[in-house]
Formats: sequence, structure tokens, C-alpha cells
Amino acid sequence: MKGKTALVTGSTSGIGLGIANALAAGGADIVLNGFGDAGEIERLRASLAATHGVSVSYQAADLSRAADIDAMFARLAEAGIGIDVLVNNAGIQHVAPVEQFPVERWDAIIALNLSAAFHTIRCALPGMKSRGWGRILNIASVHGLVASVDKAAYVAAKHGIIGLTKVVGLETARTAITCNAICPGWVLTPLVQKQIDARASQAGLSEQEAKVALLSEKQPSVDFVTPQQLGDLAVFLCSESAAQVRGAAWTVDGGWTAQ
Ligand code: NAD
Repeated sequence: MKGKTALVTGSTSGIGLGIANALAAGGADIVLNGFGDAGEIERLRASLAATHGVSVSYQAADLSRAADIDAMFARLAEAGIGIDVLVNNAGIQHVAPVEQFPVERWDAIIALNLSAAFHTIRCALPGMKSRGWGRILNIASVHGLVASVDKAAYVAAKHGIIGLTKVVGLETARTAITCNAICPGWVLTPLVQKQIDARASQAGLSEQEAKVALLSEKQPSVDFVTPQQLGDLAVFLCSESAAQVRGAAWTVDGGWTAQ
């Protein structure tokens, strides 16, 4: 992937960081994005660059705001950075029954988990087309394919992003640009740790018992997917071997959706 630049949204943590790391290991220059302590992010940026000998920069855009996304792409263009690989990964979760779901949380989840991908794609595609190559990877979820209770906004956004992936996959089908979705099952990241902690405190379980309970309910392997595995899949989807994988929703879910 030498000579390519990948923007990975929400790459200061969890899956995004795993994907940024794998793409950097494959030789891609990286643009990081996401929230966090400035010193910690700078340490992350410097360590990725030093470990893989690639150029790594950071963009602090709040992707729930369309104007921030436009401004981020304007800064990248000004700096002469073209985005060849766009990984839409930033996402949040909120768990509540639909009639108690806070309207503000619904809006925030749709804005980040769905609309942000529309805005980054609309900003990144013209550059990919002019350079004649591109890869768009949308990190959806098994919840883009099946539902769970109490996750109305998340499931709606993830189903939506799979629809968006198909449309962009079709609109770019006669080009060397592909657009695909990755649908992970449970991955042990801060986003899921919160759900484990809530389960442990509600049911009076130890952390380990809460993890097993969470996995057993949905994920037949009773084992977590890792950010490294998702990073390796992202590298494959960026390769020429994956040039005819288009508009797919690729599960990595320990068997969750096979049931
Ligand atoms: P995480 O909480 O570890 O990381 C989320 C990242 O998004 C962080 O870098 C955070 O700073 C960033 N972020 C949050 N709000 C942002 C905003 N407004 N603008 C820019 N960045 C923002 O979560 P994760 O588990 O690594 O999740 C990453 C993606 O994978 C999400 O889209 C999530 O829905 C999806 N996913 C996660 C799992 C799982 O089990 N963890 C499973 C399936 C899908």
C-alpha cells in the first residue's frame, strides 16, 4: 500500500486503531481522526509513524457535524493530501427501549454512525475518481444485518450504512474504486466494555462472567473478534485480489448471523 493514504475515522481507539495499524503495516500513510487526550493522540501518531516508517497525521474533526467534515477535507486538500482509502469507522452506541430512547441520542447516533459516512464519501470520491483508484470501507456491524432489542438508533444507522455501501458500490462499479462494509460481531473495545460493565452491575456478575454472558447470547464462538483481524480484512479489501468485491457486507462475527 506504499504511496496510498488512508483516512481512518475514529482511529484513536478500538477497531479504528487496529485498522490504522494494519494499513500502516501494509505501507499506507495514515490520517488519524477521533477524540482523546491531545498528548495521548500525539504519542499514538508518533509511534505508528516510527513503527511502520510511514507518514501519520491527525485531523480533529467532530464527524457528527457535516461542516467539520467539509472543513477537514478542505484542510487535507490544502496540505496536498489525497485520500485513497477511506475507512468510515467512528461510531457510538446508546442502549434503551425505543419509547424511552432520548431524542438527542437518536440524532447523535444517526449523525455519526450514518450521515458522517455520506459526507466523507461525497468529499473523498472526486479525488479518488481523478486519481483513478480508491477503496471505501464502512465499518457497519452485525447490527446492519440483524437487530437486537434496545438499540433502535444503532441498528437503524447500521442497516442504513449497508444500504449506502450498496449504492456507492454500484455507482463506482465500472471504476477501480470499490465500496464495501465490514460487519463485526462483538469486539472487546471501550464501546463494548461499557455494555459489559452495565451487565455486570445490573446482574451482579463478575467482569469475566458478564463477558461470557454477553458472548453466549449471540456469538456462537464465545470469543471476541479482534481489531487485528478486522485490520487484516481491511488490508485484503484494499488489495487487487479484492477488486471485484463490491457493495458487500462482510461478516466477521464468530457465527452470529449464521444462526
Ligand atoms: P470505540 O469507542 O473504541 O472507538 C470509537 C472511535 O470513534 C474513537 O476513536 C472515538 O474518539 C471516535 N469518535 C466518537 N465520536 C466521534 C465524533 N463525533 N467524531 C469523530 N470521532 C468520534 O469503539 P469501537 O468499538 O472501536 O467501534 C468502532 C466502530 O465499529 C463503530 O462504528 C462501531 O459501531 C463498530 N462496531 C463495533 C463493534 C464492537 O463490538 N466493538 C461491533 C460491531 C461494529
